[in-house]
Amino acid sequence: MDFSLKYDIVVVGAGIAGVSAALAAARRGHRVALVEKQTLIGGLATAGLIFVYLPLCDGEGVQVTGGIAEELLLRGLDFSPFELPQDWQKEAPPQRGSSSRYKVDFAPASLTLVMDELLAEANVDLWLDSRVCDIRQSAGRISAIEVENASGRGMLQGSCFVDASGEALLVRRAGGEFSTALNSLSLWMMEMSPKASSIYAFTDSLHIQPFRFPFEVYRPGSGLDGKDVSNYTRFCWQELRKYYRDNYAAGHTSFNHYPVHLPTMPQFRKMAAAKCLKTLNSGDEFRRFEDSVGMTGDWRKPGPVWETPLGCLIPEKTDGVLMAGRCISAIEDAWEVYRVIPAAAMTGEAAGISAAICVEQRRTPHELAAAPVQDALRQGGIKLHLDEVGLGAKYAN
Ligand SMILES: Cc1cc2nc3c(=O)[nH]c(=O)nc-3n(C[C@H](O)[C@H](O)[C@H](O)COP(=O)(O)OP(=O)(O)OC[C@H]3O[C@@H](n4cnc5c(N)ncnc54)[C@H](O)[C@@H]3O)c2cc1C
Repeated sequence: MDFSLKYDIVVVGAGIAGVSAALAAARRGHRVALVEKQTLIGGLATAGLIFVYLPLCDGEGVQVTGGIAEELLLRGLDFSPFELPQDWQKEAPPQRGSSSRYKVDFAPASLTLVMDELLAEANVDLWLDSRVCDIRQSAGRISAIEVENASGRGMLQGSCFVDASGEALLVRRAGGEFSTALNSLSLWMMEMSPKASSIYAFTDSLHIQPFRFPFEVYRPGSGLDGKDVSNYTRFCWQELRKYYRDNYAAGHTSFNHYPVHLPTMPQFRKMAAAKCLKTLNSGDEFRRFEDSVGMTGDWRKPGPVWETPLGCLIPEKTDGVLMAGRCISAIEDAWEVYRVIPAAAMTGEAAGISAAICVEQRRTPHELAAAPVQDALRQGGIKLHLDEVGLGAKYAN
């Protein structure tokens, strides 16, 4: 090995979930490494040019997600032209029943710059341009990862790991079970256009353009096959060439209508979700989980609120690691609800706190009790159950 270091906690993937996990663990005083294969942090939310921070509320005037998810939503506005919806500005919180949603647009680069500052303040050791290539296991759990970067191949050991890779990388490497799903296909990119047809406008003409392509789905497991990733990406580029040539033929000119920036991450929505001690499934909205570590609303419609069991962050057959973000154990409709930015931040924070408590109590995730994790989250002001935000009457069980 060209290098070898030891940490309390190693977080794999610096998307929204990984950044949240690393912040939560480091703020408890632990030595935390955050490992990212790109030279950008934020994952799909920034490298993927996804710039809608979906809601922290239930769509009926009740905030259900807080903590780091709210901190990132607010701080992501630091270097961006967007603002909080008027109803959610703190001077005038919305009335019960309000349909205004607590969500914002943000400039992806703003979120990257702000998250880097937060990580630096928390003393997280950020490894950029460092690809996790393999895992090591001992005593029945993950004990180290192998990383490749400009220094060669090295090893990062940890007492506990967080898999925030978006694709359940550590669990798949350990031979654990996971599920996949169909992906709906679209492309978000940044362009200059006098049409400013997108509502996602930074200026009169610079905006992010979400394209919908003619077919809706891409096969399950896409994104887990190297050639598939290349084919999908090149298909998007081919469609863009066609789009610009068609527009130029129709009278537009490349002087003021041209692509500015393409995503540097393939925009698969669902890659792999680890099979954990518990799995969130369709119909689990309004269900009480005694081990809940946070809540999310449904970004697609007002009403439903989901409690999040700690068990869906703890892989069933692989110990030493907690899941965070879009690769937690959620299937069917639940995966659709949980695969977005606020839920990634919420599960990331819960995974980071859980990893920290594992280290403090010298336990593995499989030995972890929910109560201390819940206490720590509550101390940070996070609400865990529907009845804590006045929605107890909505319980289905
Ligand atoms: C087209 C599209 C539109 C979307 N629209 C929205 C929207 O409007 N609003 C919204 O809230 N959400 C939206 N989403 C979903 C959302 O952006 C993501 O699901 C969410 O940001 C996922 O965060 P994450 O941290 O779980 O995973 P990711 O963002 O995938 O982060 C995982 C990180 O791990 C890194 N990584 C992976 N493998 C390795 C490795 N081997 N070594 C080191 N690092 C590694 C990756 O580079 C990445 O940075 C959209 C998604 C898509 C595809």
